[in-house]
Amino acid sequence: MALRGLSIQVKLPLLIGAVLVAVTGIYSWAAYQTMQRSASTTIMVRLRTVADQYAQALTTQRDQLVAAVQSIAASPAVRAYAVHPGASRQASTEAVLRPSGLQAEQVVAVELWSADRRRLLAVGDPARWSNATAAAELVQELGGADSGAVGRFRAVGDSIVYPVGARVPVDGQARGYVVQWRVVTLSPKSREQVSRLIGSDGRLFVGNAANDVWTDLSRRVEAPPVDVVHADSVLRYERAGTGVVLAAARVTGRTPWLVLVEFPRDVVIAPALLFLRRLTLIGGVILVVGLLAAWATSLTLTQPLARLTHAAEAVAAGDYSQLRPVAVQGRSDELGRLAAAFDIMVAHVRNARQRLEERVRARTRELEDRNQELEAFAYSISHDLRSPLRAMEGFSQALIEDYGDRLDDAGRDHAERVVKAARRMDQLIDDLLAYSQVTRADLARAPMDLQRLVRAALEQLDGEVRTRQARIVVEDGLPAVVGHEATLTQVLVNLLANSIKFVSSGLAPEVRVRAESREGRVRLWVEDNGIGIAPEHHERIFRVFERLHPATNYPGTGIGLAIVRKAMQRMGGRAGVESEPGRGSRFWIELPAGATFPAS
Ligand code: ADP
Repeated sequence: MALRGLSIQVKLPLLIGAVLVAVTGIYSWAAYQTMQRSASTTIMVRLRTVADQYAQALTTQRDQLVAAVQSIAASPAVRAYAVHPGASRQASTEAVLRPSGLQAEQVVAVELWSADRRRLLAVGDPARWSNATAAAELVQELGGADSGAVGRFRAVGDSIVYPVGARVPVDGQARGYVVQWRVVTLSPKSREQVSRLIGSDGRLFVGNAANDVWTDLSRRVEAPPVDVVHADSVLRYERAGTGVVLAAARVTGRTPWLVLVEFPRDVVIAPALLFLRRLTLIGGVILVVGLLAAWATSLTLTQPLARLTHAAEAVAAGDYSQLRPVAVQGRSDELGRLAAAFDIMVAHVRNARQRLEERVRARTRELEDRNQELEAFAYSISHDLRSPLRAMEGFSQALIEDYGDRLDDAGRDHAERVVKAARRMDQLIDDLLAYSQVTRADLARAPMDLQRLVRAALEQLDGEVRTRQARIVVEDGLPAVVGHEATLTQVLVNLLANSIKFVSSGLAPEVRVRAESREGRVRLWVEDNGIGIAPEHHERIFRVFERLHPATNYPGTGIGLAIVRKAMQRMGGRAGVESEPGRGSRFWIELPAGATFPAS
């Protein structure tokens, strides 16, 4: 996970920020939901109450209207006309039927119907407002139990009208019917009442229970898209132009009407939304403050940790030079104590290291002194051994030459063995002295031509090359190197001599000398077709007296390669071998290139 790669300094504020976001988010959402639910519940109760109240008010109004029409129907003029219609009574009856005062604004037509349901008389504008079927429907209803009733709303153009009817009672019988057509209007006073009841955002509608005509009491409106008649609970639907609304409907008693109260859902949840916005703002502030606090805390924690880490890394890399104390004055918490303990530990380690270095230096000096003494001792012993050895060889040789004829075979053989052993020992002493020389001498270095040195070395080996019929190929243009001429020639002689010597009997030695230059160094290869060397012996053969074969097969003292390695070290170079048994050997020496040597 990507978070794992982050530093604690970033991780800690991120973690605290995430927790803060989660907590404020969950808390805000829960609070918003609760607010929204409680606002919805409140508005639902209010919607139902308002619908109930308005339905009751309408019923009361209906009763009043019916009573007014009943009193007109019961007037003597109307009754007389209903029983005996005639032109002589017409004017007086019309006068009774015609609305007066305030009524005149709302009553747009009045009709008098006979008992057998014919229209006898009409005032106002029945042609425009009345509808024969609607009137007949109401009259039909009045033929039943009720002596007065209101009919369904009708849309006439933009206006909504409804009929109010009453029986014309003569001797306890219905002798006709008065039907008054009223237009729906909402006076400023009733408008104020309505808005007091439901608030400015709510809307009130009345309509037919048949759901065909609806009005907001000023003009016709669309019917609600759901069945409001049979809905018990609060309704929720989309009203064109308003959006989603919550609504409650009530049947108005003793009428074919419904009352519907709607409230926009957005307005209901607006306080909850406002609350959520405030909470989000507060949450944002808490988050910013929390993040800053977390960042500051993280810094106080991680800064000493970072100092400790750098110091620990410096100690791990063995660098004590730049190390400063990491403990902060006056800080006594866990980190302060850790830093103080770290400083003490570093001081201990530094002291111990210094003591150790001094001890190593002293021991090295001691060892070097001993080594020098030993080398001097070996050199003088070797040197001193030489003259008695040469005397032994010389006298043995003289014994063979002067008294050989007087010795028997065994005596001569012994004398010859003494000569051979003395010569071998002489060679050994020579080699030891050469090794000692390489170890002790001051090897002043200079650039030199490698080609010339190889040639000189081969000249020294000329006899052996001829005897063994060796074929030696030296690559042209060997580069210049920096070294000590005599020592480097000795190294080349040793390597070339070995490459001619360690070849299976009967096989003519084939040797190739080539060089590689890389990054200011020259590597010279001496490659042969000899018997090869197993990898486990590659290091060993460079040590003094290490030989892999008995002297009877391949004569030697085991010092040649030791001289090579020591000489290369002394000249600032290296030596090595790549080989496998039976596949020849490729010895190499490496020295600084001649061109890079400072021209001093
Ligand atoms: P020496 O030649 O006197 O025996 P060196 O120190 O020169 O001693 O070599 C050590 C040993 O390394 C040799 O005895 C031989 O076993 C092995 N050696 C050296 N050069 C070669 C070579 N070119 N091929 C195979 N073996 C070698």
